[in-house]
Amino acid sequence: MNKKNNWKEVWWRLLQHGVVGAGGHGWPMKRGTACPCGWQHSAASPRATQALQLREHVFWTCTEASAIIRAIQHNLPVSVQLLPRHVWLLEQPCQTVRKELWYFLCLAALTAILRARGLVLSMLARTGVDPAVVDTRAVDLLLAALKDFAACQGSVSSFSDLGQSHPFVYARPNGSLAVSLQLPP
Ligand SMILES: [Zn+2]
Repeated sequence: MNKKNNWKEVWWRLLQHGVVGAGGHGWPMKRGTACPCGWQHSAASPRATQALQLREHVFWTCTEASAIIRAIQHNLPVSVQLLPRHVWLLEQPCQTVRKELWYFLCLAALTAILRARGLVLSMLARTGVDPAVVDTRAVDLLLAALKDFAACQGSVSSFSDLGQSHPFVYARPNGSLAVSLQLPP
């Protein structure tokens, strides 16, 4: 698949439990602090467990992650329930999405989540966090990643035969790809 290596970095670090600020290296948040969304890990848990709680929060339930997860879920068949393992371990949730495209979508989603979190932290320092802005920015990052992917494949690729109804990305009659991500209401 023609995609840049920088899309793989966050996923690789996540698997190694090495994302700084998301429980990486076994570090939870400082005692008494909270995520910008207000979430805190369990004060009673051991530090290693807190670090895992933080990782799960950052990549699944925090504002920017849940916006992206919601957008992905919205483009899947209604019978499919998106689970963390589908995104974190790149497990195809259904046959409706081509496997190789699913891989990229997950890499892009994880990268977008972390980039959006960076935006949230800088927003927090300047103006405070508006959850609606966070939602939009996060999904925009996913959309930009899909557009980058579509543009990088060229008109002749292994995706040139994706049907017009394929979710996330489809192939135009000339074989070039276009993004079809539908946004949830
Ligand atoms: Zn949070």
